[in-house]
Amino acid sequence: MAGEDYPRTYQQLQDWFRDDAACLDYLARLRWPAGFTCPVCGGGESWRTKQGLWMCRACGRKTSVTAGTIFHRTRTPLSTWFAAIWFITSQKNGVSAQGLQRVLGFGSYETAWAWMHKLRRAMVRPDRDLLSGVVELDETFVGGRSTGRIGASSDKVPIMVAVERDGPRRLGRVRFQVAAAPNTLELVEFATATIAPGSTVRTDGARMLRRLADLGYTHEYVDGYRAPDPAAVLPGVHMVASLLKRWLIGTLHYGVDRAQLPYYLDEYAFRFNRRSSTSRGLLFYRLLQQAVHTDPQPLPTLVRPFYQADCS
Ligand SMILES: [Zn+2]
Repeated sequence: MAGEDYPRTYQQLQDWFRDDAACLDYLARLRWPAGFTCPVCGGGESWRTKQGLWMCRACGRKTSVTAGTIFHRTRTPLSTWFAAIWFITSQKNGVSAQGLQRVLGFGSYETAWAWMHKLRRAMVRPDRDLLSGVVELDETFVGGRSTGRIGASSDKVPIMVAVERDGPRRLGRVRFQVAAAPNTLELVEFATATIAPGSTVRTDGARMLRRLADLGYTHEYVDGYRAPDPAAVLPGVHMVASLLKRWLIGTLHYGVDRAQLPYYLDEYAFRFNRRSSTSRGLLFYRLLQQAVHTDPQPLPTLVRPFYQADCS
């Protein structure tokens, strides 16, 4: 609840999180909602050391609330991280690394860049729910900057999109994934990974998609090639795709590095799926909650993320 579980305003954020101790308390509530449990002996009783660690009363083991999270061994005050997360989530369309650098007064662009990328890694819950109900499924293409690999000819990257139809006019949640190549069975794999069995899946008329009917879905398809207006065939996907492209251009200003594209898709889905949230503070809360359940992201893995298409 706003003002109780998470700050309502920036002023409140500053009042709540004046020092690291206050930030650590908050992170502990998010990381251990049922209370601290010692990872060694399972004991629930602890006291706080001067260094801000949780020390088990039974066995003496010291535990850091930030260890094993994206805040692992950070040398920046946690209140600065909280301000960054507030800034990123309170802007409806997000911010660029330059914007973050400016507002936090970072000396280096690289630091702001790394923070943006670390937080993007926390924007997807690994255990997120499957889409359900009526879901539109298709591919779109977005422009991408090739990473300089010889032979990286195309700068258009195929993106798979699944979006729920919430009634005739409204859209529900969305999922995206970069495809290794367009028009392959990967789209069927994507469907089974993101859409709950029993759902109705609407697609164009591509023949390979007919097997969705054998995979536990009600498959509705139209022959997209014959449709007079392609946007009318899968209007939900069409709308989400155009919003995504506008966001990529507007927020990032430059072409997106292909290797980073999956993480930009995660950020856009995070924002899109919470677009009707009345309180921006709730996004702050969610991102922080996911950040304490996200593994540390050392710089080398941010700069050179594993990318499927490079291995194919
Ligand atoms: Zn213990």
